Amino acid sequence: MYNAVICRYHEIAIKGNNRREFERQLIGNMHSMMRGKVECRIRQIRGRIWIEPAAGAAFFTAAEQQTLAGILSRCFGLESFSPARLVPPDMEEIKAAAAEVARPVFAAAQAEKTRVSFRIRARRSDKEFPFRSRDIEIALAEVVAKSVDADRLDVDLDDPDLSLGCEVREEFAALFLETFRGPGGLPVGCNGKVLVLLSGGIDSPVCAYRMMKRGCAVDFLTFHSSPYTPPESEEKVRELAACLNRYQFPGTLHLCNLAPLQKQIRDLCTERDRTVLYRRAMLRIAEKIATQCGAGALATGEAVGQVASQTLRNLATINAAVRILILRPLCGSDKSELIRMAEEIGTYPISIRKAPDSCTVFAPASPATSVPESVATAEEAKIPDYDRLLDEITAAAVTCRP
Ligand code: ATP
Ligand code: MG
Repeated sequence: MYNAVICRYHEIAIKGNNRREFERQLIGNMHSMMRGKVECRIRQIRGRIWIEPAAGAAFFTAAEQQTLAGILSRCFGLESFSPARLVPPDMEEIKAAAAEVARPVFAAAQAEKTRVSFRIRARRSDKEFPFRSRDIEIALAEVVAKSVDADRLDVDLDDPDLSLGCEVREEFAALFLETFRGPGGLPVGCNGKVLVLLSGGIDSPVCAYRMMKRGCAVDFLTFHSSPYTPPESEEKVRELAACLNRYQFPGTLHLCNLAPLQKQIRDLCTERDRTVLYRRAMLRIAEKIATQCGAGALATGEAVGQVASQTLRNLATINAAVRILILRPLCGSDKSELIRMAEEIGTYPISIRKAPDSCTVFAPASPATSVPESVATAEEAKIPDYDRLLDEITAAAVTCRP
């Protein structure tokens, strides 16, 4: 019944000069997310993007509509979208299509309820169109009422059971019954790339999602401690990255074995300071990998005060290990908010699977909550081949496309 999906965007519509670039990125992302999944054409005119079936097909199948809805609900930059019937901008064509689109849905509602309420919402962006929005609404209300049992139909402008939308543009008129929410934000890629430090926990996947939502393409970096951590730990992170990649053109996962350095830290440094020392080493390696993969910043799932390594003092000491920009989009969030977010984006069930983490395997019994930078530097000086180890671990990193 539908021969298009109308897509609306918001934030990018107000971005003045950058607008064209954002639209180009958004459409490119839509193409790459749909490739191999739905055959379609994506078109764009001033402030609207719409999707049509591939040449030769008149309508989308129900399965194609479902696939499209799944993809569009994960496509950053989109505010909302509606499966729609497109017709030429001619009043008689619009009326005929309105009756056709409304009839089955209105009739089904009337089969369930004695009285059904509805409204028509018309918008005319083509000011040359000879009917005003109000006239279109009245005309369509009439044809819709005629197409079903008019005696059991009420108009309700505030909270109707059914709502038929009509948008008249120069190029086409669109009729639609439903509007679905998109994820909002900015098209992935329009703000460069960040390297997200991805553990198997709950927070760092949410961090990756937030960065993508702000238009950053994300590559992932995870540290394991093989053979002290099992292959399941790496597999879990791979699954998290795959789940997150559904929201972008798939990013690369970099896997690093931190164990050689962790053993040195364990054997040579003060036990209570270990966690901060592991984190500083992670950031140093991350900075090198960011340079290699063209990421302009690192991002972590740290939140102030959540654990010992995330006190202000320790965050400052960890931060001071590198010069690259570090983004912490969750720094002001509560754990309960992050859990809710993880559930929404689909990473939560993977995150809660039990698997040992690289840091916890070598964790001290009671980590220090305040390690001054001077102490960390002095501890690191106890490891004779510290820099060489960092380089070796970085060089041994393995990459995959989850
Ligand atoms: P998460 O749910 O992200 O694991 P957490 O509350 O368990 O968060 P920590 O384990 O202290 O927090 O880690 C803080 C941040 O450090 C993580 O969000 C992640 O960005 C990074 N991190 C921790 N462990 C690893 C790891 N093994 N590999 C990559 N990054 C890590
Ligand atoms: Mg963790």
